[in-house]
Amino acid sequence: MKDYDVLVIGGGPIGLAAAAELANSNQQVLLIEQFDFINQKGSSAGSSRQFRVQYAQKYMSELALESIPFWEKLQKTTEDVLIDQVGSLWFGDPALSSQEGGIEAAMEVMEELHIPYQPLQGKEIESLFPFTNIPEDYSGFFQKDGGIIDFKATQKALLAICQSAVNVDLLAQTPVTNIQSLENGAIVVTANRQEYYTSKLVICPGAYVNDILKHFGLSINIDIWEMSSAYYRKTEDIKLPTWFVFQKPQDTSLFYGFPEVDWAHPGYIRVAPDIPDRIIQDPSQRSPYPSKKSLGFNETWVKDHMVGLDPSSEFTATCLITLSNNSKELLLDFLPDSVNNSKNIILYTGGWAAKFVPLLGKILSDLVIKGTTPYNISNFKIDYKNC
Ligand SMILES: Cc1cc2nc3c(=O)[nH]c(=O)nc-3n(C[C@H](O)[C@H](O)[C@H](O)COP(=O)(O)OP(=O)(O)OC[C@H]3O[C@@H](n4cnc5c(N)ncnc54)[C@H](O)[C@@H]3O)c2cc1C
Repeated sequence: MKDYDVLVIGGGPIGLAAAAELANSNQQVLLIEQFDFINQKGSSAGSSRQFRVQYAQKYMSELALESIPFWEKLQKTTEDVLIDQVGSLWFGDPALSSQEGGIEAAMEVMEELHIPYQPLQGKEIESLFPFTNIPEDYSGFFQKDGGIIDFKATQKALLAICQSAVNVDLLAQTPVTNIQSLENGAIVVTANRQEYYTSKLVICPGAYVNDILKHFGLSINIDIWEMSSAYYRKTEDIKLPTWFVFQKPQDTSLFYGFPEVDWAHPGYIRVAPDIPDRIIQDPSQRSPYPSKKSLGFNETWVKDHMVGLDPSSEFTATCLITLSNNSKELLLDFLPDSVNNSKNIILYTGGWAAKFVPLLGKILSDLVIKGTTPYNISNFKIDYKNC
């Protein structure tokens, strides 16, 4: 079998971004994906994601700002617009803190980092954007650098870089079924009954992380959220930025949405509840159907608070997101010292990471090749358990 310098497991956007970065670094790379590339079965289903620079944590805002040059570099490789910079509107209860952050905390971080934003009070939001019946005590802000990510075009651009690189081999429809990390430094990955040899491994399996970690006798505590979203037909010529509303109770009243785009159901606008339909521990427990309850909350929000949309859910879909159950925003670390070659094996799984995709590719490539990265990843360490 051919030997590789770096083998990447998981061909979602993060694995593709890692392989695309490694392609530039003279490494022989193999990227293995169990389904097709650009599939709808993991955390990257659907077409759009939000880009934003505001966060309740300074280190997250800094990371978002640091990702911008990497998006600009990736943008140069494709004619598709990867981020349409329509801005980001946050409004609602200013003191509320959700797992997406909170308005007051994000404003403090923007002040500290000199990120420009426009504060907005209750009725001002209705006068500038197509929302209605917004409570008078709601407030928020508009941040101009946010936008909507064309997530399929992003993955297409990364896949094209990998496909055109002579030093990257791509395998789709090939589940990894075993990994042995040997005392002599070799790592043997089995997929489709073939063994592949490498000295370095990047693991980006999304929600399937514990299926991979079991080969090292490890597991991690994660929550996998099954989430629903829907599109709503435009009945008026409305213009929206990306937006998020922070309200109580958090388990029924957090929503986010997007502008209309020509690359996903033109004439319709996507609105989604930022709540889990169900929290599961393994992707095999997933339901094939969006939750009627979540979509019911969503329709009620659209009917009561949005202007120019027919509140009947269409083009409904589900997606899985892996989240740390101890509030870490991202999960990114080497394997623990108990594993042979642990400093040559790096894992990324979990978090709201679409906005960081090209930067995470660079960080993973740095870590696996040099063992270090200039970016601050100290907050994302993983608590491994033996299993
Ligand atoms: C509803 C929803 C909304 C979101 N909104 C935002 C947002 O607005 N902004 C934002 O920044 N982020 C957002 N996110 C998060 C973002 O989508 C994810 O962080 C990102 O898609 C993760 O990509 P990934 O490559 O890690 O995972 P995935 O796309 O799931 O890729 C992992 C890949 O690994 C493969 N794999 C796993 N096991 C194996 C194996 N044994 N062998 C071979 N291949 C394997 C899988 O098949 C899969 O293709 C959202 C997520 C969801 C679900």
